[in-house]
Amino acid sequence: MKLFTSLLLLVTFAATAAIAQTKPADADQKLWDRAVKLHRQSIIIDGHNDITSPMVDQDFNLADDSTGRYQIGGDPYHTDLKKLKAGGMTGEFMSIYVSGSSMTTGGAMRRAMDMIDATYREAELNPKDLSMCTTAAQIRQAKKQGKICLLMGIEGGYVIEDSLYALRNFYRLGIRYMTLTHNVATNWADAHRDEKHGGLTDFGKEVVKEMNRLGIMVDISHVSAKVMHDVLDLSKSPIIASHSGVRGVNDHTRNVPDDVLKRLKANGGVINVVFYPSFLDERTNREENERSAKLRDQIAKLREQYKDDRDGFNAAVRKLEEENPIYIADYKRIVDHMDHIKKVAGVEHIGLGSDYDGVPFLPTPMQGVQDLVLVTYEMLRRGYSDKEVKMVLGENMLRAMEQNEKNARGTRISADGSLMKLKK
Ligand SMILES: [Zn+2]
Repeated sequence: MKLFTSLLLLVTFAATAAIAQTKPADADQKLWDRAVKLHRQSIIIDGHNDITSPMVDQDFNLADDSTGRYQIGGDPYHTDLKKLKAGGMTGEFMSIYVSGSSMTTGGAMRRAMDMIDATYREAELNPKDLSMCTTAAQIRQAKKQGKICLLMGIEGGYVIEDSLYALRNFYRLGIRYMTLTHNVATNWADAHRDEKHGGLTDFGKEVVKEMNRLGIMVDISHVSAKVMHDVLDLSKSPIIASHSGVRGVNDHTRNVPDDVLKRLKANGGVINVVFYPSFLDERTNREENERSAKLRDQIAKLREQYKDDRDGFNAAVRKLEEENPIYIADYKRIVDHMDHIKKVAGVEHIGLGSDYDGVPFLPTPMQGVQDLVLVTYEMLRRGYSDKEVKMVLGENMLRAMEQNEKNARGTRISADGSLMKLKK
């Protein structure tokens, strides 16, 4: 028994050690302890996680040991079950991501179906730790039970294949936000790098109205600035940016401009600040682009060499990039973007939108979900009150979700088949 206990302790220690949180070298111990405590007490919601891609493409399960698994051209996986627990996550929006290339290849809806099933399977395989959630109340409940909610948002409006019928079915499957585009325009909305409609088309406006009616939050990450304004003109419910920075800190087309931030007060929306250093920081973005151009031919060769071995390819690209290091902004840069939103719109409009496993690297020294407490620490260090920190970590998103739920009206059928109460 004694031996068993020590073995168990050893195993537990090893597991914890492998996912230890990274503490800044210059951390104030007292403040760090306060940050860890506050972080543990808080409801934490992350607006965007792309681990769904390896779940479908590389047969990855959240309970798997992710050691030695790398994403395309980048870090070891940011997300697995242990890391989600270590990071204190309460509600993780799993990204049902479909690339803009589906506009030419087709298959967007099928891809989304695969990803939605992979997400449900995780909850089925890990019932002690995970549950599928669609409402703010379920997230609050999960916190009390010590569980993690998996929520779903569509990234790329291609998925509905121009059909409001399909949109309604995605609601029934549990989708609670939709990013109108990825980097390519849909037939009805412009993307930040692909403007051809002058904003939302008439059908695009119908999509937004139907999303409001159903209670699917409209996500303005990836869309053009004009679409952001068109959405704000129309939406009666709070909008979100599921994973974006702000142009006031780094003038990148993926970020949200000040004139949009100023409209958030009236709308009640939330900008979930992305962790991708290239969106957060101009120098990282420039150096990453230069490195990509420099390594293009070598990466093409590796792709050919490892064409049947995706994990091997990812590890080889990672090695090449390590040999060609760039400046990577640190975690404090995330809070620079939060400060700007706080100044222009107010602290009520800030959230978290990591983009874990959708980006090749995180701000230093973050390794994955387990290091989320660094953001809490930095907010406290800058004088955010406990209440403000909790708002950013999750309460603001809960408020936006609740308001979307309240405003949703019409005939809705819940996932268990029962007819939900109609709003008069
Ligand atoms: Zn994205």
